[in-house]
Amino acid sequence: MAEINPFEMAQRQLDMCGEILGLEPDVLAALREPKREIHVSLPVRMDDGTIRTFKGFRVQYNDARGPTKGGIRFHPDETIDTVRALAAWMTWKCSLMDIPLGGGKGGIICNTKEMSQGELERLSRAYVDNIWKYIGPDMDVPAPDVYTNPQTMAWMMDEYSKISGKNQFGVITGKPLNLGGSAGRGDATARGALYCIREAAKTQGLDLSKATAAVQGYGNAGYYIARLLRSELGCNVCAVSDSKGGICCMGGLDPDAVCTHKAETTSVIEYPDTECMTNEDLLEMDVDILCPSALENVVTAENAPRIKAKIVAELANGPTTPEADEILHEKGVHILPDFLCNAGGVTVSYFEMVQNFYMNYWTEEEVYEQLDKKMTAAYYAVYETSKEYNINMRQAAYVIAVKRVVEAMRARGWI
Ligand code: GLU
Repeated sequence: MAEINPFEMAQRQLDMCGEILGLEPDVLAALREPKREIHVSLPVRMDDGTIRTFKGFRVQYNDARGPTKGGIRFHPDETIDTVRALAAWMTWKCSLMDIPLGGGKGGIICNTKEMSQGELERLSRAYVDNIWKYIGPDMDVPAPDVYTNPQTMAWMMDEYSKISGKNQFGVITGKPLNLGGSAGRGDATARGALYCIREAAKTQGLDLSKATAAVQGYGNAGYYIARLLRSELGCNVCAVSDSKGGICCMGGLDPDAVCTHKAETTSVIEYPDTECMTNEDLLEMDVDILCPSALENVVTAENAPRIKAKIVAELANGPTTPEADEILHEKGVHILPDFLCNAGGVTVSYFEMVQNFYMNYWTEEEVYEQLDKKMTAAYYAVYETSKEYNINMRQAAYVIAVKRVVEAMRARGWI
């Protein structure tokens, strides 16, 4: 699994799109590499008085359509190639959603589970101290991602504001509500996926009130999708997992009760009256909807033939390799590709930027309504394009997104 390089994967997906669109080689070459990369080493004082130096990255992939946008991940296995791939996917994501932003991503190699709040705060501030020149509301706007949260964003916004000598809420999104955050940002990724799944069920003839679902990952994306699938669509969520393993109960789980259990014990595993299972087994369960909501490269050529779900809703970024894509497409699985399915997060981030600029805040209902419109439009655009070109859903999403970026680059005279 580890040998799959996510950036090579992202480039292969783009090459495939280039072939479908008949893009000239020089245009494709301009799209295949990030515009700018920042590599930083961050010495941070730990609670025991020692200094530890962390490595961090920020990749600004393409800003033809607007300032670059994308989350910051804190992960022990972070690599520059993962961040490059994620920054590329952010470019396609913002373009597909037709929001006026480019794509970027950041990452710091660290294990948040072994760090205190003080250490995390010092690390977050050190990161901003090192990249502040290259970020800003009209340049590059970070956001939360794997193992970062509104508190992390608050520290980073505060550090940037201190350096600028004025409040700069617009430098980062996913902030706490009392610091310029948007209503509805917390569960926006999952809610966007929910709207996509709702529409996909219509085109695929699936009765959601009788549908079963399995969710891999129980962070911001996984927990909320489990909760919303049950509460808003009436699905039976019968399996969930986190990095320590999975639990299954065919009669259905209560996602909130599982969340409380995880908060008390650090994991979903050993939740009462459930069977335990591995993350690998969960992916192969006989359910209608599978939601990979953790990390990249989990559905591969090896396990794809055994995937039984009718709809695979990718809340994670990059969970399916190109080989697995083909296998699933041939099996007739309806994939909701990552940069469509999980675009709710960045879409509400964009709404947050708009609210920060205008200093005028929307209600949760207004956010949901606007998000629903954007997600539903994007789903049908991808669905219709896949029919028109006779290509799979991911290729269709690429066709729409890449076309728009190329148009912007041409109009600016870059290519
Ligand atoms: N990290 C999220 C993503 O991968 C959100 C990015 C953002 O809000 O800028 O889409």
